[in-house]
Amino acid sequence: MDSNVTMEKIVSLAKRRGFVFQSSEIYGGQSGAWDYGPMGIELKNRIQRFWWKEMTQLHDDIVGLDAAILMHPRTWEASGHVENFTDPLVDCKKCKQRFRADQIDQAKLAKKECPECGGELTDTRKFNLMFKTNIGPVDDGTGLIYLRPETAQGIYVNYKNIVQSNRMKIPFGIAQVGKAFRNEIVTKNFIFRTCEFEQMEMQYFVKPGDDEKFFNYWREQRWAYYQKLGVRMEKLRWHQHGPDELAHYAKDAYDIEYEFPMGFKELEGVHNRSDYDLGRHQQFSGKDLQYIDQDNGNERYTPFIIETSAGLTRQLLMVLCDAYEDQKVADKGTDDDWRTVLHFHPTLAPVTVAVLPLMKKDGLAELAGDIRKDLKEEFATDYDQGGAIGRRYRRQDEVGTPFCVTIDYQSKEDGTVTLRFRDSMEQIRVPRAELESTIKKAIKEYKRA
Ligand code: ATP
Repeated sequence: MDSNVTMEKIVSLAKRRGFVFQSSEIYGGQSGAWDYGPMGIELKNRIQRFWWKEMTQLHDDIVGLDAAILMHPRTWEASGHVENFTDPLVDCKKCKQRFRADQIDQAKLAKKECPECGGELTDTRKFNLMFKTNIGPVDDGTGLIYLRPETAQGIYVNYKNIVQSNRMKIPFGIAQVGKAFRNEIVTKNFIFRTCEFEQMEMQYFVKPGDDEKFFNYWREQRWAYYQKLGVRMEKLRWHQHGPDELAHYAKDAYDIEYEFPMGFKELEGVHNRSDYDLGRHQQFSGKDLQYIDQDNGNERYTPFIIETSAGLTRQLLMVLCDAYEDQKVADKGTDDDWRTVLHFHPTLAPVTVAVLPLMKKDGLAELAGDIRKDLKEEFATDYDQGGAIGRRYRRQDEVGTPFCVTIDYQSKEDGTVTLRFRDSMEQIRVPRAELESTIKKAIKEYKRA
């Protein structure tokens, strides 16, 4: 079913239908940055809400946070980012291209030979990925501040506040969604790797010794999340970090990878970060961040952290790729034989119900407008009265609208409407009064075909 999806098709559909646009396109575009259009922002918000519900509403022991992007610069010394958040870079002296040394042919790298033009490469040097800016009125270096490269540190520095204000008991978690910035050198593959992106991170604080148990628990939970999201599970796999891949803080780490059109790539990381983070923030801030276990004779310890770290914008790309299908629906030898359809889970679809009067005249448009008004309170709706009904269905298929409601002459007589299902293209007749409950039931029972 997926063999026909390519990144070119995704990029083209995303632009054509208002999901994602190139940033500052009228000036020739800004690399590493993308804008989310009317469909894209709806999809992004829904993925975010799906994740948020999963992490907070469905887990009693997880609370939310929204920390600032600008943080005290010492944060990034404590976290290890100033020292270690680097990519190894080489430049070609001839064609002037820049490469990540770990991503090019290692034999050529050893010979200092450019993989593109064969020219001479510079020595490998470390390049820090954090964006620097300046805070305050003077620009003499004293106001150096970073745009956060991950949301996690905002959680660690608030750990004590949250324990105290919300009387949290270990084990517990803190969830956050927000922007992160990295000066990525290679930003190809559309929104897969960008300089400005959004993360959905949850940090789970546990007693040392319980970490492996909760690490396994969170691996299972995160796998189950993608099942619920309605993506094809055969496109997902685990990748365990080998000793040379493990980050400086990690005790154990697995990535969930998705098979994008360009191959299997990281979607989300589940990491056992040991007591590194809180230990370092204690050391650098001089504040006591130990947990006092009042249920166990005031035992004190520095919690271990299990992290689940997902990219929201990367997940949106995954959802788009996973949903995309060019499907043959007839055999007449015309363009109409094919439709492009996005099989979004109905909870994620930017438009849930499209209301379509068969004709504009004879009061059908008014009736359709009235029915849309009924549905608006419960669902994201769209209204389309232009062109042949088949064309209008195709337009909705292309943005993944799971339900179309068509109002025709019979609707005027007996109060029933046609409900059309996107995936099966099945059409049933439903009394207007039962429309809302029928759609709700179909959403609840939705299974990816
Ligand atoms: P990589 O090694 O590919 O640079 P990473 O392992 O450093 O990525 P993490 O720091 O673990 O990535 O970030 C957690 C998640 O944030 C990733 O799984 C990914 O979904 C998302 N993410 C990271 N960097 C980017 C980026 N530049 N653009 C979009 N999403 C990103």
